[in-house]
Amino acid sequence: MTRSLFDVLRQVRYAFFPRRCAACGEVVGPREEMCPRCLQTVHRVPQPICYDCGCGKRDCRCEKRHSVFVAAFASPFYYTGSVNRAIRRMKFSETPENAEVFGREMAAFAKEVYEGVTIDLVTFVPMTRREKRSRGYNQSELLARHTARELLLPMEPTLEKLYETRSQRTLSQRRRSGNVLGVFEVTDPASVRGKRILLCDDLRTTGATLIECAKMLRIRGAREVICLTAAVGFPKPDIDKNKK
Ligand SMILES: [Zn+2]
Ligand SMILES: [Zn+2]
Repeated sequence: MTRSLFDVLRQVRYAFFPRRCAACGEVVGPREEMCPRCLQTVHRVPQPICYDCGCGKRDCRCEKRHSVFVAAFASPFYYTGSVNRAIRRMKFSETPENAEVFGREMAAFAKEVYEGVTIDLVTFVPMTRREKRSRGYNQSELLARHTARELLLPMEPTLEKLYETRSQRTLSQRRRSGNVLGVFEVTDPASVRGKRILLCDDLRTTGATLIECAKMLRIRGAREVICLTAAVGFPKPDIDKNKK
């Protein structure tokens, strides 16, 4: 009975390493990703989605300002409430295991919104070597790896980040695309030529970073780039405040 052995192993592992809520770090049950309180402020992106911005069509405010380099954007969650906290924990609290939780959700969402789309390769937004060393990992790479594993697709690094930039969070919307201009390069054009590529990252706000990466992939010969992020910025005033 492989199944029961697996369950026993899971219980043993849980006894030593209890599962923790991805957002607040409280201990949760062996099959849970988040505690009930945090689950209340998880907001999934409703389908159908707007492929120009990745928001639900009913929430979209993008007025179809489309990038010629990106064929589509999609994210399973809005970047608010517990998802905001879970992503920040993944980035700043040395909680890389959250990438597995998000990777599963991203893959499941991609199966729905990119149904019938043949993807050749999964890749990710890179960091400089120094940035990766200081964090210990690149969360976008982990997300891409877990997503690719779930989708049974190959995952390869295709881009490098040539120099460090100011955090996009510190800049106004208008200055963000200038901040990342010319920062990325394709390491081996032969590996992307003629391919439809799924580009992964943790978060899409203005889309400037993803568009700049997609631009380089397309310039170096990729046939199409579609984006998948763990979360997308909510286009209206905060979703949780709306409910009150
Ligand atoms: Zn929690
Ligand atoms: Zn839109």
